[in-house]
Amino acid sequence: MTGFVTRFAPSPTGYLHLGHAASAFHVWDAARRAGGRVLLRIEDIDLGRCKPEYTEAIFEDLAWLGFEWDGPVRIQSEHFQDYERVVDHLTALGLTYRCFRSRSDIAEEQAAAGAPPGTPFTGSALPADAEAERLDRGDAFAWRLSLEKCRDYLGSAYDQLSFELSTSPGEHQTIKARPDIHGDINLTRKDSPTAYHVASTHDDALQGITHVIRGEDLKDAAHIHVLLQALMDWPQPVYTHHPLVMGPDGKRLAKRFASQSLASLRADGLSPDDVRRLAGV
Ligand code: GLU
Repeated sequence: MTGFVTRFAPSPTGYLHLGHAASAFHVWDAARRAGGRVLLRIEDIDLGRCKPEYTEAIFEDLAWLGFEWDGPVRIQSEHFQDYERVVDHLTALGLTYRCFRSRSDIAEEQAAAGAPPGTPFTGSALPADAEAERLDRGDAFAWRLSLEKCRDYLGSAYDQLSFELSTSPGEHQTIKARPDIHGDINLTRKDSPTAYHVASTHDDALQGITHVIRGEDLKDAAHIHVLLQALMDWPQPVYTHHPLVMGPDGKRLAKRFASQSLASLRADGLSPDDVRRLAGV
């Protein structure tokens, strides 16, 4: 066993499909090559969309594919207090603010300011009396991380943030981090005590993950994850972004064949090797 620790971290918002299987093959293959370990994490913080039956199905699908994981499974919905502590810490450092805006408020404000759609949001706290009024009214808010405050807090270290990207086994490239592409991220949501970036980086640190392997659809996440790691004094894993499974028309498979769950492929008589071939791994 080496010090290599990676993880498979699906969200049980539906049944696993070929795209998830591809991720799992990449993760377990890398661990096998490195003589390392794989941990399993269930990222079920979205209580409105995640269902226990999908979590059960993940265990079944992984067992069918022949994957075993090391140690206990981390179920994020059982640990909301851990993520709240992260937000409290960042708030105590003066790096957060309450945001009462909805998505459409933001879109409207940005359009009025002439910003192109999709411009990363940056903002600041309301004046104290206006904020007190909204809190008194019981208006829902989300905590956001202020990039401006982070830049002040970290000084020159902010501009030096970078991460190691593994392009093939044993080869790394240093990538300059651009947290600004995300704007002021949500640390919580109006309807959830945590958001993906907080829960994911917290757990990568807690679980001692040395190598994060995930699909290219999440390649931008590292740019903000390394900022959270710097603020929280967490170690930085090496990142790998594996290619997504494409359908015959070159579109992302997850959308194109959304109904093709691993369970249905299994029911159609496909073997785990067939699934690996279809996933192109
Ligand atoms: N839970 C995420 C997903 O299923 C993966 C997050 C990650 O690997 O960091 O897309």
